[in-house]
Amino acid sequence: MGGYMDRRKISRPVKILIGMGAGIAIGMLCSLLPESGILIRVFEIGGNLFLNLFKMIVVPVVLVSMILGVVSMNNPELLGRIGGKTLFWFASTTLVSSAMGIFFSLRFKIGEGTTLQQPQNAGVNLSGKVHSISETLINMVPSNMFQSVVESNMLQIIVIALILGIALAKISSKAPSLLAFLKEVDTLNLSIVNLILDLAPIGVFCLLAHTFACFGFKVLLPLSKYLLCFLGVSALLMFVIYPVLLILIAKVSPFRFYKRMFPVMLLAFSTSSSNAVLPTNINTLNEKIGVSKNISTFILSLGATINMNGTAIMQCCAAILIAQLYQIPLSLVQIIEIISMTLVASIGTAGMPSAGVLMLGLVLQSVGLPVSGIALILGVDRIVDMFRTVVNVTGDAVTAVLVSASEKKLDRSILES
Ligand code: ASP
Repeated sequence: MGGYMDRRKISRPVKILIGMGAGIAIGMLCSLLPESGILIRVFEIGGNLFLNLFKMIVVPVVLVSMILGVVSMNNPELLGRIGGKTLFWFASTTLVSSAMGIFFSLRFKIGEGTTLQQPQNAGVNLSGKVHSISETLINMVPSNMFQSVVESNMLQIIVIALILGIALAKISSKAPSLLAFLKEVDTLNLSIVNLILDLAPIGVFCLLAHTFACFGFKVLLPLSKYLLCFLGVSALLMFVIYPVLLILIAKVSPFRFYKRMFPVMLLAFSTSSSNAVLPTNINTLNEKIGVSKNISTFILSLGATINMNGTAIMQCCAAILIAQLYQIPLSLVQIIEIISMTLVASIGTAGMPSAGVLMLGLVLQSVGLPVSGIALILGVDRIVDMFRTVVNVTGDAVTAVLVSASEKKLDRSILES
């Protein structure tokens, strides 16, 4: 009984951290044991069950809370202004991330002096799974809204929620019970998210145990320059650029911000999915950082779908690595093309594990680099994905703070409490 009471005192982030540590340790142990196949399978099932729970709730959360957010703004001008500022910060942070990725990859010549085996499947065509730019733009507006929901197409769901929200705002006095119903569903969604989060320590344990059990650490060495460059640039963004923006633009303490965001970042690391973390990110920003629910829902939903700073860094480092490995010289125009393509690619990248490496095909293709080069980095991508998802999710949250501070809609008393 006493032990039970003690356990209850451990906070959720600490429990998640313990789950992560145990998952990494047990996973590494399993990778050394020859007979751990069944255990690895169990971890895989547990991890996927946990991810599915989040995927299950993300569409109702985005749809309902975004409709309510648009209704409560009830002002197309305000919506347009917030949308404009959000896109501005998304685009500028992505461009800065890409430019830093390119600069440091070239500076440290990450592909020179590395000997990698030519991939067996050099003819692999990963780009087949990637939509072209025009397709992505046309697909933003769904021709069948039920299909978008069934397929969890987040960009389309955002467009549907915007249209429904604007329409509902116009008739809100005629449909008070519909509005009240949606508010109740919103509360229900929150309660479901909290239930799922109670399982997070076990979920992240399984996810990480599976990843580390299956991961061959030998693949890290030949790609160490690429990994170090990616991690260094990500750290620069996370610990210099984001904090400077928070201090200068939003007048918010980065220490407090990161302290409150820590559980969200742990989840992002474990799940490698911006979408899976979205409901928790929305609630954290609202309840612990003071960004109003409508702004956090709007910006974070959009961000989880179209703002990928960590992914942009990875794609730029990977493009330079592949160019150098294949000894293909890149002109300044091609480098600028890579940077602008990462911006476009991030719109089409789903907030799902490994989505960024698929979109890398589009970036490589656009500058004439061999798409088969992707196979060279696939071995380490699971690890890179964990880190870049943290950067992606944090970037969305930083933008939400910047925009809500500039709109004087940041409740500073919450962050300072
Ligand atoms: N896993 C990343 C995310 O969800 C996307 C990517 O693969 O780059 O943000």
